[in-house]
Amino acid sequence: RASTGGLPSAARVDELIAEAHARYRGHGEGAVADYIPILAEADPAGFGLSLVSTEGGLHEAGDVAVAFSIQSISKAFVFALVCEAIGHRAVHERVGVNNTGLPFNSVIALELNEGSPMNPMVNAGAIATTAMLPATSGEERWQLIRSGLSRFAGRELPLDGEVYRSEILTNQRNRGIARLLDGYGRLDAEPEETVDIYTRQCALAVTTRDLAVMGATLADGGVNPVTGARVVSAEVARDTLAVLAACGMYERSGEWLFEIGLPAKSGVSGGIVAVAPGKGALGAFSPPLDAAGNSVRGQRACAFLSRALGLNLFAST
Ligand code: GLU
Repeated sequence: RASTGGLPSAARVDELIAEAHARYRGHGEGAVADYIPILAEADPAGFGLSLVSTEGGLHEAGDVAVAFSIQSISKAFVFALVCEAIGHRAVHERVGVNNTGLPFNSVIALELNEGSPMNPMVNAGAIATTAMLPATSGEERWQLIRSGLSRFAGRELPLDGEVYRSEILTNQRNRGIARLLDGYGRLDAEPEETVDIYTRQCALAVTTRDLAVMGATLADGGVNPVTGARVVSAEVARDTLAVLAACGMYERSGEWLFEIGLPAKSGVSGGIVAVAPGKGALGAFSPPLDAAGNSVRGQRACAFLSRALGLNLFAST
């Protein structure tokens, strides 16, 4: 299908995606995450790029069929589901929307801010956000998250049981964060159960194509451009993108916005989703990360494509 909606012609987009892949395929910088043991086994050469337009057009290059755990990228979509369920004001008040300037799993950030997690894209804020999703049991909350993220992707997302087990055995730090939040009276559900659901949401398996469809749903005002289904309201899509612009790329969010000019979210398995409102979204995957936790090849490819496709939100021409 042709890409329109402010993007160049479909053939030109195909060409630029292929060029981005060829340019950065050979880059060797960065290191694969290993604090979750199984992630250390990822192939450092893996590299895939998908773009989905708000018209539903698909453009891809590289390892686009390789499944990886969504990790922190889930935080963006769970935030959207919680806003859809209870309104963005409630999440704003409880969790906040400002960047911490500190690593994603920082305990100091919580302590410095009297127990406020500061934003839903760091672990503390994401755990608090997961606990806010209305449900009568943990199992129901998990099912709501899984089905909600699947609606964003337009297909049933499977759980990567190996990633879940690897992380649940080694996530003492996230358990500590949940207990601390609970101690501050800022967690709406039982801490152990909430961390378990959060760990499962991070272990949902996606491809770059899934990420691009999920991002394109936010770009399309909450309507999945492939299935045609409304997943969240246009207001929730807008509010989610605002939070991603401020906090989506860990403590490098300012640099990312300065270089690339798009709301985006990354995760420690090497995924990035970058959203061009009204136009579409990029899904990138490559496991080697920079010190903040952002995929190195993914960032380079997004920078190149943002320029080549004219996606930077702050550019007037
Ligand atoms: N599940 C990971 C954690 O909680 C996600 C981290 C990330 O992708 O930033 O540590």
